[in-house]
Amino acid sequence: MTDPDALAERVQDGELRLHELEQHADADTAAEARRRLLEAETGADLDTVGEYAFPAETADANVENMVGAAQVPMGVAGPVPVDGSAADGTHYLPLATTEGALVASINRGLSAIRAAGGATARVLKNEMTRAPVFRVHDVGEASEVASWVKANVDALREAAESTTSHGELREATPYVVGDNVFVRFGYDTKDAMGMNMATIATQEAAELVEAETPAELVALSGNLCSDKKPAAINAVEGRGRTVAADVLLDREQVEDRFKTTPEAIAEANTRKNHVGSAKAASIGFNAQAANVVAAAFLACGQDIAQVVEGSNAIVTADVRGDQLYASVTLASLEVGTVGGGTKLPTQSEALDVLGVRGGGDPAGSNADALAEIIAVGALAGELSLLGALSASHLASAHEELGR
Ligand code: NAP
Repeated sequence: MTDPDALAERVQDGELRLHELEQHADADTAAEARRRLLEAETGADLDTVGEYAFPAETADANVENMVGAAQVPMGVAGPVPVDGSAADGTHYLPLATTEGALVASINRGLSAIRAAGGATARVLKNEMTRAPVFRVHDVGEASEVASWVKANVDALREAAESTTSHGELREATPYVVGDNVFVRFGYDTKDAMGMNMATIATQEAAELVEAETPAELVALSGNLCSDKKPAAINAVEGRGRTVAADVLLDREQVEDRFKTTPEAIAEANTRKNHVGSAKAASIGFNAQAANVVAAAFLACGQDIAQVVEGSNAIVTADVRGDQLYASVTLASLEVGTVGGGTKLPTQSEALDVLGVRGGGDPAGSNADALAEIIAVGALAGELSLLGALSASHLASAHEELGR
């Protein structure tokens, strides 16, 4: 077996580069050599970073220059009955976080939803987008290219779908800004979050646009997609899954679980989530959707940077007779149960807890179910935080849990 110290020394001597270690040793030894190098050069002790519970080669497609694993505590909230289009039955929600009180908060919300018999959830739209930008001569040419795109969606579909056995092109919408033409391609990517799939398919479609029109491709992603950047287009048009969840709670259930009233929660939602968010010119009209999305994404192997758009959520809360109606609609929740980080061991196990590991039957149903369960988790987080604020319990809850 290759000696990791000897490999580390060869890197220090300039004989090897950090990323070349896998050419001289197996993936675990290469990771160990990098830890030795870092320890020697920085004085840091990386024993814990090196205590990961999967063969390093399984993370080959997920990380370069691997040194170990960043371990985040995982908790669980639930169970909660979900009446979804794809998620059916009772589910526990795995959540990875370092924020004390978060899992307890979501758990409290889920217990109220459970008392009400569960939440309803539906995926309303499913389109992963990629929007290349093309250079044209002037607005006349831009208009010509946009018209060609609108008239040739079938040909674009044929080109795009030639690269994938699962992806389906749903739409191709042109946008013109002076001498720039953007085409926002939207795909049903089934159980894949779909960013790689959509990018590869769009490359093929963009080549057709270039071949058939005067447009010249400048960048395959022109930021109108819009991936991992705060952007209203995702909140308005959706990206990935657009998913909503709602519940009707009896007055007694609100009083019992949240020590407050339906009226107080509805008022807190209006004044905080709506008026406050509007005054702040926020895109997210919610209390803590990002908390639930981030913790579920981390636990379940999702692309964590997509929390940026995953938290584009609007919460409604109204008193209906003697009940509280509450809903959350997440406009752009990008989730997958195949590909990306979902293949990693702890992430696969978390998907098993939800019963959605791998491809669904029919294709797309597992990712739909994941989206619906996360939406119910987000609804629970909203109810719990709005309830705590209404009952002025927020500070004391954190105090009790010691953080
Ligand atoms: P992927 O791992 O690249 O691809 C998943 C592949 O799984 C699909 O292309 C599909 O192959 C196959 N597949 C098998 N069963 C499937 C099913 N039931 N439903 C759907 N597909 C199925 O994953 P991805 O979701 O396209 O992309 C996610 C990755 O992209 C993440 O690692 C993320 O970090 C990264 N990412 C990339 C970009 C980018 O610009 N490229 C941007 C952001 C993030 P076929 O296509 O052959 O059918």
